[in-house]
Amino acid sequence: MAKTDDITRLERFEGCLIGGAAGDALGYPVEFSSYEGICARYGAQGITSYAADGFSDLALFSDDTQMALFTAEGLLAAGPDASRATFVRKIHRAYLDWLKTQEQLPPAGSDGSSLLDEPQLYARRAPGNTCLSALRSHKMGLMEKPLNNSKGCGGVMRVAPVGLFVDDADEAAFVAAMAAAITHGHSMGYVPAAALAFIVNRCVYGDFVSLQAVVGECIDRLPTWFDDDRAAAEDMGRQLARAAELAAGDVPDAANIKVLGEGWVGDEALAIAVYACLRHEDDFGAVLVAAVNHDGDSDSTGAIAGNVMGAWLGLGAIGPEWTERLELRDLILRLASDLEAAV
Ligand SMILES: [Mg+2]
Repeated sequence: MAKTDDITRLERFEGCLIGGAAGDALGYPVEFSSYEGICARYGAQGITSYAADGFSDLALFSDDTQMALFTAEGLLAAGPDASRATFVRKIHRAYLDWLKTQEQLPPAGSDGSSLLDEPQLYARRAPGNTCLSALRSHKMGLMEKPLNNSKGCGGVMRVAPVGLFVDDADEAAFVAAMAAAITHGHSMGYVPAAALAFIVNRCVYGDFVSLQAVVGECIDRLPTWFDDDRAAAEDMGRQLARAAELAAGDVPDAANIKVLGEGWVGDEALAIAVYACLRHEDDFGAVLVAAVNHDGDSDSTGAIAGNVMGAWLGLGAIGPEWTERLELRDLILRLASDLEAAV
């Protein structure tokens, strides 16, 4: 489906954040299940609708969305004209506030992020050890001074808001890579984050006729951002190209995703998410279902796919089955609107 000017910028911001939370919430109950296990439990099509929490009847999202919301808070604290250094310092501060929600009881303090006033965010939803231990060190990882050698997808899964807020696409890529490198020191921990922010940015601000064209532009731009990690950037580009190639064929999703990996690492998570988006370009629900039904890190691949598809199609394309029971929906919409108003 071609990009249409009928979708407002606000609808794309809302779609990106709600879409990410929806994909995360669909995938979270099956994050640690094999594809076979998912089908045994939910039927031959896999999980196709929310498995709501038995206590609250809400669709709960995981650390991916929690951290994305804190990324948004960090961006808002920095303001749209901030320097790269300020963006990353504020995002790091926001992540330290997220760490409080994982380790303390609410309210954890009044001088930090306003998200600390939201009791529902004080919930541990399988947070990644790399994020926890990097943040507990209170040191801020940098690409040129990494804290660890992690290429987990915890860097890329949380940076979509950077692509919304930083309107220059190359700058968004760089800020997102820095935001991921706060906790993930391997090049495949932060190179995919740059690619995701670029793709989200181009969905919102670009003038592309197709999502495939957006991804093509990303593949071309990737090596230009990383002088010291050129091989990783080119490798990321090859994986995205492979995802696009598979999406154009007619092999079933689960078999194609097996070729791309499991998504525990950043590059595979992005490739799987982009595959799902390109394969089902005009159908938000089909994208999410494809993105979460596999052996790997379903909530993260779902979250990333939802971010991209929501930014491309806008909130209006996300049906009520994905929004009505989504936890903290109003908070997410408020953040989207705050980000959009500040740009
Ligand atoms: Mg998660």
